[in-house]
Amino acid sequence: MTSSLRQARVDLAATLRWAARLGYQQGVCNHFSLLAPHSDELFLVNPEGFFWSEITASSLLLCDLDGTIVEGTGTVELSAFSLHAPIHRLNKHAKAVLHTHSPYATALCLIRNARVEPVFLPGFQFFGKIAYDEDCHGAAFSIEEGEREAAILADKNVLMMRNHGPLVVGPTVAAAFDRLYYLEDTCQRQMLAMSAGRPLQWVADEVAASLASQVPVFDAYAEKHLTAIKRVLDREEPDYSR
Ligand SMILES: [Zn+2]
Repeated sequence: MTSSLRQARVDLAATLRWAARLGYQQGVCNHFSLLAPHSDELFLVNPEGFFWSEITASSLLLCDLDGTIVEGTGTVELSAFSLHAPIHRLNKHAKAVLHTHSPYATALCLIRNARVEPVFLPGFQFFGKIAYDEDCHGAAFSIEEGEREAAILADKNVLMMRNHGPLVVGPTVAAAFDRLYYLEDTCQRQMLAMSAGRPLQWVADEVAASLASQVPVFDAYAEKHLTAIKRVLDREEPDYSR
């Protein structure tokens, strides 16, 4: 195994372990996937039937975009393959694709016409970067459904699927995970604010847009975020990198 693929496995396993701690997984559902380094054809994904808290670097499956497992033992859930593979194939900026049913971002997806509003400073990064699929077709059990979602996502960073939950993409697993973390956190704080029954205080579009344009700043921060996560995991659950 090349060292870059080995590092990709460790990084993806770390984000799954951390997302488990944060309570983002529902049962043994939901998937994080990452294109293998220097490949547009192969991606890593967590195997079917495991808690994210159990995932190790070596237990991640390496698959091609037709769903054939080329490295590792186990199975890939049909909806994982149907949703993730078309997005990797059609959205070239989506090196990492993270889908959860995390509580607050999902709750926002369950409210008619709800949007991530420009009201909370760290959430301004999402201004103009979120696509909304308002037309739930049920679970993604076909490539056609995954292709429909990929077309709606287009060049955005986040897809909020109404009646379902969020999907976040990024150029690295660090960037995608940092976006997922701040999306869930922003939705939590916005939902708390909405529950006060008072109007939300928006900022001007220019203010939110100016922060959203600072992509290199967020990507650099994201690398530090993942480094800190791995530092804690190395100390507290070092088997993740096995
Ligand atoms: Zn789902």
